[in-house]
This record gives sequence, structure tokens and C-alpha cells, in this order.
Amino acid sequence: MEIYDAVVIGAGQAGLSASYHLKRRGISHVVLDADAAPGGAWQHRWDSLTMHDVHGIAALPDSRPPGTPDGRANTVVPAYFGDYERTHDLPVLRPVRVDRVVEAGDLLVVRAGERSWTTRTVVNATGTWTQPHLPFYPGGADFGGEQLHTVSYPGPEHFRGRRVVVVGGGASAVQLLGEIAPVAAATLWVTRREPVWRTDEFNPDRGREAVALVEERVRRGLPPASVVSVTGLALREQEAAASLLGAYERHPMFTGIEPDGVRLPPSAGAGPGELWPADTILWATGFRPAIGHLAPLHLRSEHGGIRLDGTTAVTDPRVQLVGYGPSASTIGANRAGRVAARGVAAWLGEHGAEDVA
Ligand SMILES: Cc1cc2nc3c(=O)[nH]c(=O)nc-3n(C[C@H](O)[C@H](O)[C@H](O)COP(=O)(O)OP(=O)(O)OC[C@H]3O[C@@H](n4cnc5c(N)ncnc54)[C@H](O)[C@@H]3O)c2cc1C
Repeated sequence: MEIYDAVVIGAGQAGLSASYHLKRRGISHVVLDADAAPGGAWQHRWDSLTMHDVHGIAALPDSRPPGTPDGRANTVVPAYFGDYERTHDLPVLRPVRVDRVVEAGDLLVVRAGERSWTTRTVVNATGTWTQPHLPFYPGGADFGGEQLHTVSYPGPEHFRGRRVVVVGGGASAVQLLGEIAPVAAATLWVTRREPVWRTDEFNPDRGREAVALVEERVRRGLPPASVVSVTGLALREQEAAASLLGAYERHPMFTGIEPDGVRLPPSAGAGPGELWPADTILWATGFRPAIGHLAPLHLRSEHGGIRLDGTTAVTDPRVQLVGYGPSASTIGANRAGRVAARGVAAWLGEHGAEDVA
């Protein structure tokens, strides 16, 4: 039976960065990826998302940044990742969807159906795309129109002439409203909290402060917040037309969903709120970490998140989490991959594995 020093689960930005740094350190490993092709979650992003729309994709370690500004993100980034895997000869196996990681004495066994890999350490890099978050609202099951999540956004044409409710206070809601409002019959933007608009220039210091806030959450074992929730939102030139149409006038969450639309909260002193008739509810309500396969290791704290020291799981230092919480961005994922490889090397060094740099 082969025993790996590390198994990386997931071959998005975080998994590829980790694999690159493990390889540089001479640490034997394999990368298991659920997708049939390179590209991580980028290959599943909607067609209208161009490289001009994304907020900037950091170059993977020891490579140049991807692609032209006009290309589609769901083809440019996967091509870049594919090249990267080949150039650096990274040991990626696909498609392999890991369903659980279990303990076997000092070792860990990573299982995917009937197949398994035995390893001393695991670097989890499974992202969030496979865990869209759909909050529960009363009446949702009786809605006569259609309900979609960002994960299956079909592009703006689909919404032509429709009355669309967009739910969520993050960057995706802002971006999708920018595309939909100019073609829809009407849009209604609802969020639980008043959105925080960024008024000053976003700069590296603001970015670092935002990441530090999310880092503090995972140090305490809280579920990670999205980095955008602490950096604030900004409108770009792509959103100008929607802005002129009033699409970014935010409304508080509806009180319930009815067959023909959503019931708005009552205005102060008035009776029940009015019904906003809707054809579509688009849930831009984000994602959760895809970590169900780690459940047998009982890593979650009493607060519901996984407590991390850097990228190392505090309750089981054999496990590293990258692309999780503060490292859930391309630049964060790059850095986390390097830190995780160092964490793996430290564990192997302390536990008697030989030939580890
Ligand atoms: C719409 C959108 C736009 C964004 N735009 C930007 C941006 O402009 N700039 C930026 O820096 N960040 C952006 N982000 C965030 C960024 O995409 C991610 O944080 C970053 O790509 C990190 O990727 P990752 O490797 O953690 O995850 P992913 O790219 O999701 O990769 C995870 C990989 O794990 C695999 N996997 C999942 N579960 C399993 C399993 N059980 N077994 C085996 N494999 C598994 C998947 O197949 C996938 O290949 C955006 C996010 C979204 C949702």
C-alpha cells in the first residue's frame, strides 16, 4: 500500500498553489479533483462573466497572470490552469469526488466511492461552488414563478421582460443586477442588512484589514464571513445603466413568498405590506465551504466553523484548509497554498517522515 505524505483535495487556485509548493519541497502527494477538466469553479461561471468583469485573478506561483481582458472567464482561467498543471507536472487525478476522510491510527484515509488513498496529511482545497446557500423563507415552495441561485445564472437574456427579485447583499448581486436591470421589466433588490458601499479608494491596506477580520473569525472557530462582506461594495462602469434605472435602491427582506410574488414588509404604521408581483426570484445568497467530507474528523468548533492557526486545523494539525475563509480569493489561495505546504512539512518533520525539505 502506498502512503502519501499529503493528499490535496481540489484543484482550483488553492489546490494548485498547494501542490506547486509541496512539489518544490519534494513532498510526495496526489491532487484529487472532482471536476472532469482543469479550471476549478471558474469553468462553471456564467458565460457573460468576462475577464474585464472579474476583480482580478492573481497569477499562480511562478507563472504569469492569465489571459486577455475580453475573454470569457470560464474559458480563459481553465485554459490557464490546464497549462499550469502541465508545465509544472502536477500530479492531478480527475474526476475524483472525495466523499469522506477518515482516521486510520496515525494516518488518514481519503475515500471516493470504492477508491482510497492513504496519507499522513490532507490539504483541503474544495472551495465553495458546490455548496450554494439557499436560505429558507416561508412560502418558497408555493411560488408559481422560477427560483434560481447564482450558481445556475443563465445570463441576462433569460430575464428579458420579466419582473425579477434579486436577493443578497454581496458582489454577485450587484453584478447580476447590473446585467439584468437593463433588460428586465422590473427589478427589486432585497438584502437582510443595509449594504455597505465603499466610498474611498480600495487599496492594499483596506484589503489587508478585511482579510485580518475574517482571519480573526476563523481563529475563533466561527463560520468564515466572505471577504467582500467586510470590504464593502462598489459600482463599476458595467453597472452604470442599472444604477440610472434605480436598480441599486435597496429594500429590506420580504416577509414571505406567495404564489404570485413576494410580500414586502409593512411600512411604518400601515397594515400588511404590499405584494410585489414577480416572475423570478434570483438568490444571490452566496456559498458555504464544501467540507462535508471532513465530517468524520470532527473538526468543527462549538461555534460551527473550523478553528485555524494559519491554515492548520487546530483540533487535527494533519489537516490544512486552503481557500477557506480569509484565503477565499485568488491571491489568498496562492498564499495559503505556500503556508499549507510549510505546515505539512512541519508536521512530517516532527513526526519522523524522512526526506522532507
Ligand atoms: C462569481 C465569483 C467571482 C469571483 N471573482 C473573483 C475575482 O475576480 N478575484 C478573486 O481573487 N476571487 C474571485 N472569486 C473568489 C475565487 O474564485 C475563489 O476564492 C478562488 O478561486 C479560490 O479557489 P479555490 O481553489 O478555493 O476553489 P475552486 O475554484 O472552487 O476549486 C475547488 C476545486 O475542488 C474540487 N472539489 C470540490 N469538492 C470536492 C470533493 N469532495 N472531492 C474532490 N474535489 C472537490 C472542485 O471540483 C474544484 O475543482 C470569485 C468567486 C465567485 C463565486
